[in-house]
Amino acid sequence: MLIKTLLNKVERFKSFVYGSICVEIIGGIEALVIDIEPRSNSRPICPACGKRCSVYDRQPLRLFEYLPIWSFKAYFRYAPRRVNCPVHGTKMGRSSYLKFRNIPHEK
Ligand SMILES: [Zn+2]
Repeated sequence: MLIKTLLNKVERFKSFVYGSICVEIIGGIEALVIDIEPRSNSRPICPACGKRCSVYDRQPLRLFEYLPIWSFKAYFRYAPRRVNCPVHGTKMGRSSYLKFRNIPHEK
């Protein structure tokens, strides 16, 4: 709960909400894994034209490395959405979380 409060202060996403937070072993060390979910009314953004489009599908869960929290490495865990743009077709939705490093999920 405290971590969520802090995250909402420093890294507030317009289109996402924080879900559960747990400690998992990532790459052999304990790390914080923070689930993020799109807001229920949010639609993904086409990376080509910047328009909000309908959801085509969701990709498997991925981890996005975030800044360390205390001494823990921290990751956002998210199943990225693909957009169905009437002009540009099916593309990965553009989102601010993509600025974080994407690493394969080991599960
Ligand atoms: Zn588009």
